[in-house]
Amino acid sequence: MEITKENRQWLDSMNLEHPIVIAGPCSAETEAQVLKTAHELKKTDTNVFRAGIWKPRTRPGGFEGVGAIGLPWLQKVKEETGMLVTTEVGNASHVELALKHDIDILWIGARTTVNPFVVQEIADALKGVDIPVLVKNPVNPDLPLWLGAVERFQTAGISQLGVIHRGFSTYNSLHYRNKPKWHLAIELKKEFPNLPLILDPSHICGRRDTILDVSQTALDLNYDGFMIETHIDPDNAWSDAAQQVTPTQLRGITEDLRIREKSSVKEDFQRKLMMHRKELDLIDSTIIDILADRMGIAKEIGKLKHSENVAILQSGRWSDIISKMVELGVSKGLSKEFVEEIFKSIHVESINIQHRIK
Ligand code: PEP
Ligand code: MN
Repeated sequence: MEITKENRQWLDSMNLEHPIVIAGPCSAETEAQVLKTAHELKKTDTNVFRAGIWKPRTRPGGFEGVGAIGLPWLQKVKEETGMLVTTEVGNASHVELALKHDIDILWIGARTTVNPFVVQEIADALKGVDIPVLVKNPVNPDLPLWLGAVERFQTAGISQLGVIHRGFSTYNSLHYRNKPKWHLAIELKKEFPNLPLILDPSHICGRRDTILDVSQTALDLNYDGFMIETHIDPDNAWSDAAQQVTPTQLRGITEDLRIREKSSVKEDFQRKLMMHRKELDLIDSTIIDILADRMGIAKEIGKLKHSENVAILQSGRWSDIISKMVELGVSKGLSKEFVEEIFKSIHVESINIQHRIK
């Protein structure tokens, strides 16, 4: 797949002064809620109004969206505010209805991107129509599956494309509803620099107080913009109440974000430098997480040895580990001395931890 500047024309032709802001409620609930939210958002940096009309819910019985009766409400938003509007489509009949109601941009939800049959069905329903399509990452961290969905739309003749990073499903994550796994988005950005990359911090965070922080990370990584769930009365929203912000809070977030200046050669250098530094920061915190996990296991082994009265230091095992790791490290371009040094200090720390158990 090749993605060129032509594929991001929908975004570039908007000539925005800041990264694109797509905002609006998780779900369209009533005409009054939709219109009131839209008029409030008109006073912010919002460029595109979003609202879910059909909601893919994890379990049946919850609110599954108002359905097609909500589409004229979005048409009214366009008429009254001049903002573009976008909604999620999950099958061919959604596509037909959305097009009939002048929706400007379509997005594909995370639970749809995982299914190539459905993605193909939606792409086929769009044949001959060139409307921008934004593809959310699949719920599982699978970059080829994400890109495969984009490719299906491109092959069907959709030239205006973009992707939305909304994080990946996990079990028992303390900090995130959906883990960002930034390295996947960084990889995607390196391979397809012209593909607009938009962050959805709402579904990553699952709570409103961490949205600013996660959004700043995306900005430092040179993302093209944001999709942020916004509701006039978040606590009483019919879906995703904990993560939605008010239009006023949204304004606070976009004001607090340190936004980069428009490009020049020097600024381009600064931007690249900043992006690489951010990548290093993310990798460094991953190293700490992994070391902490490793020491947690060392502790368990310490307990076992203690209960069976086995000696802590088993030097044969350690020289095995070090020689295996040196071999692996050297094959990846690291020096022998460096790998040895790191693993010696890991060993010392493991032994200390096991001694403390005694
Ligand atoms: C949404 O944007 O409201 C939504 C359902 O998102 P996702 O597909 O990312 O879960
Ligand atoms: Mn939502």
